Amino acid sequence: MKLDLPTLSAVFSQITAVLGALLMFSWALNRKVQALAWWSIAFFLVLAAIGVVSLGHGMPSAPERLIANVALTLAYGMLYGGCRVFNGRKAKLPVVFAGAGLWCVAFWLIPDDINVRLALISAICTVYAAFSAWELWRHARQRLASQMIAVVLMISLVIFNVMRGSIGFSLAHALWLTGYAERWSSSMAMAVATFMPTLAFVFLSMAKEQIEYEHRQAALVDHLTGIPNRRAFLENAAALLSKQDNPVSCLLFDLDNFKSINDRFGHEVGDHVLVIFGSVLSDHLPQGVFGRLGGEEFAAMVTMEAPGAEALAERIRHSFFSVGKIVQGLRVEVTVSVGCATGACIPVQHLLREADIALYRAKAQGRNLVTSFKTAVAQQS
Ligand code: GH3
Ligand code: MG
Ligand code: MG
Repeated sequence: MKLDLPTLSAVFSQITAVLGALLMFSWALNRKVQALAWWSIAFFLVLAAIGVVSLGHGMPSAPERLIANVALTLAYGMLYGGCRVFNGRKAKLPVVFAGAGLWCVAFWLIPDDINVRLALISAICTVYAAFSAWELWRHARQRLASQMIAVVLMISLVIFNVMRGSIGFSLAHALWLTGYAERWSSSMAMAVATFMPTLAFVFLSMAKEQIEYEHRQAALVDHLTGIPNRRAFLENAAALLSKQDNPVSCLLFDLDNFKSINDRFGHEVGDHVLVIFGSVLSDHLPQGVFGRLGGEEFAAMVTMEAPGAEALAERIRHSFFSVGKIVQGLRVEVTVSVGCATGACIPVQHLLREADIALYRAKAQGRNLVTSFKTAVAQQS
């Protein structure tokens, strides 16, 4: 196959420009995913690097080589910065610019030997690609499928750069590899022209997956308290009950005289009390088995027999009693009543109804109490 370098370079440049613009366009549509802007700039920097080396005829001049490689190392820096930003971390600008700075210093210090320079530039790119792979793998906020593919792509960039840096010294005699030993060759343009659209597609997929994940989360999390909402609780509770043959207990919590807390101290303090109760639940229960049903009502589903569940409810009631005395410097003295119901292989709604009957009894008996469904029924009859 005969590959024409100028044609390939032109095609590659056009593809990179379009991909950079698409990434920027996606960022403009989803400003929340700022990494898209970082990656878009990285693509434009690659375009600048290729543009500079392809400008003149024959070997690029020293200033052209300097500028092209500054653009290339910066592109890798932006790629890494984008990965950090995507994971919700600070970009660390000194690290982003370190490679370009190192290259500028080295350009004047190291001899004008293509192999040494190629090894250095490839080493800088290898480090950034490895950092990016590690960042996407180690610090992923969620295990997004496309993010794992991006890790593979970053590792392939590491391999590409290691080969590019080392073959200049050792393997340049192997004909099929000589293309990679050059600064810019038709084989390289071919490989990178395939790689760039793949990378852009995976970045866009990551952004899409991340946004979908956040929407899903938003639909399942209570905005005020940050704990699961009614829908999430009912789903989780149903899933828990479906895989349990043993008894499961439902705890239903209702803050006492909450309306008067709002009336006396204002809605803002009331909201704060709800947040406090959410964190008391988080402190006492594993994630995913409790939630805010609405207003000042919360529920939990635990794989415990009645005595264990009632003891747990007592601990929660007592803990809230302690922290609810003083809220935002005010003597609020808010308490919670709890209804408990236990059963095996019964629907969530059934357990919730029984827990509600027990809760009603706790309210009737003076509030700030834990009552079980069994006791409530026994007292009624
Ligand atoms: P009881 O002890 O019988 O449960 O009395 P209560 O006052 O707690 O119950 P009631 O149902 O009369 O009032 C509940 C109050 O909860 C009324 C409503 O204004 C308040 N509330 C519901 N959601 C929120 C919220 O998100 N923030 C605040 N601050 N108040 C809320
Ligand atoms: Mg209520
Ligand atoms: Mg109440």
